[in-house]
Amino acid sequence: MSKIIAIIGGGASGFFAAIQAAQEVAQRNIDAKVHLYESSPNFLSKVRISGGGRCNVTHHQYEPKLFCQNYPRGARELRSPFTKFQALNTVEWFKARGVTLVAESDGRMFPSTNTSETIIECFIKESQRLGVVLHSRQGILSINQLEDGIEIQPKDSRPIKADQVLVATGSSKRGYELAKSLGHTITELAPSLFSFKIKSPFLRELSGVSFENASLTLKTSKKKFQQNGPLLITHHGLSGPAVLKLSAWAAREMKKDQYKATLLVNWSGLESMNEIEQFYLKLKTQSSSALIKNTAPSFFTKRFWANFIECLNIPLDKKWSELSKKDLNRVIEHTKGTPLEIQGQNRFKEEFVECGGVKTSEVDFKTMQSKIVPGLHFSGEILDIDGITGGFNFQNAWTTGYLAGTSMAMGVDRQ
Ligand SMILES: Cc1cc2nc3c(=O)[nH]c(=O)nc-3n(C[C@H](O)[C@H](O)[C@H](O)COP(=O)(O)OP(=O)(O)OC[C@H]3O[C@@H](n4cnc5c(N)ncnc54)[C@H](O)[C@@H]3O)c2cc1C
Repeated sequence: MSKIIAIIGGGASGFFAAIQAAQEVAQRNIDAKVHLYESSPNFLSKVRISGGGRCNVTHHQYEPKLFCQNYPRGARELRSPFTKFQALNTVEWFKARGVTLVAESDGRMFPSTNTSETIIECFIKESQRLGVVLHSRQGILSINQLEDGIEIQPKDSRPIKADQVLVATGSSKRGYELAKSLGHTITELAPSLFSFKIKSPFLRELSGVSFENASLTLKTSKKKFQQNGPLLITHHGLSGPAVLKLSAWAAREMKKDQYKATLLVNWSGLESMNEIEQFYLKLKTQSSSALIKNTAPSFFTKRFWANFIECLNIPLDKKWSELSKKDLNRVIEHTKGTPLEIQGQNRFKEEFVECGGVKTSEVDFKTMQSKIVPGLHFSGEILDIDGITGGFNFQNAWTTGYLAGTSMAMGVDRQ
């Protein structure tokens, strides 16, 4: 009888795994069929909206060791999987199927068409070519280990006995429940990749102002975190790559502190206090007769600067020559580190992911197979693995999906 490979979750990782499993099945001439079950009406929903509709597929970094450094959770576990299928393999995989990925200056890679539809069309075409059976609106309600396989219960049909199963349900509650029902541990969940809610006079009416290379220090009750990068003032507080990176590395600590923490912002891109001091002393000498408010440092916009000095209670009609040593020191100190109190988190329209999931020590990262239930696999965001923004979360989905797909085809071949 023909064997069954059942994949639960038709998102990025499940879809990629289905194609890979079907490819192996075809190449090895195995008598097996790949079935992909998706609870919602549409497959690949997150791929569609990802990267602002452009899909940031992966990151232009082909050294697995360096690539791993972008995962606050999972860096160690992904070392070996990336030696088998890494960003370069992703680029080649798409190229072989007529899709060119192009790197931007910050390393993010998008399809040359600049639309996620290209990725979706490519996947759908491949799944059709390889005969993957797609079941939409067929959420899997339960899963049971049998002596000779795994039984899954789709929403609207009789139970299916599968020979190999992959759970690739992303951050859905049901997916975590399925994993738990088979004895797996779900580590503490917490959102990652969010913006900071901050109300401060320093940000007043400055939404849209950005900084090329800010340096942020976050102080939670137990730990300090530091990240650099572009920063953006929003209606609600602060966002931009530097904030998203911080939120990822501090995801669990910030949750514990209920998103209350102190942030020190160095807006200038200058690293040391001494550099900042020299910068201002030069500016003071060069512009001694000019009004301070009219002479914004190069790293500030005029609007930000005027508000900044107002917040420091420096009169707007003061000239640089009239600035006291004490006030100059306050300008220098606040440029190096304006203290802001974070009052909460914001995930509006952001590329958020879930930190936490299936405990990685319960999974064999050579095959993505469960160490508890033979024939059961996990891939993608359901695992306790998450990356910072930049294409790292999709690369985790592709890599672990690839390994799971390959392993399941080999598994049915042996059975
Ligand atoms: C707005 C947004 C933008 C993003 N942009 C990017 C980006 O540009 N680059 C990047 O690297 N990452 C991005 N991410 C993160 C990325 O989308 C995820 O990390 C990735 O989709 C995870 O893949 P996955 O297959 O594990 O989960 P998902 O893609 O979430 O897929 C899981 C699927 O399982 C289905 N499912 C759940 N439970 C069941 C069930 N019981 N039975 C059947 N089906 C079920 C769900 O409906 C879903 O379709 C973005 C995330 C968001 C929210």
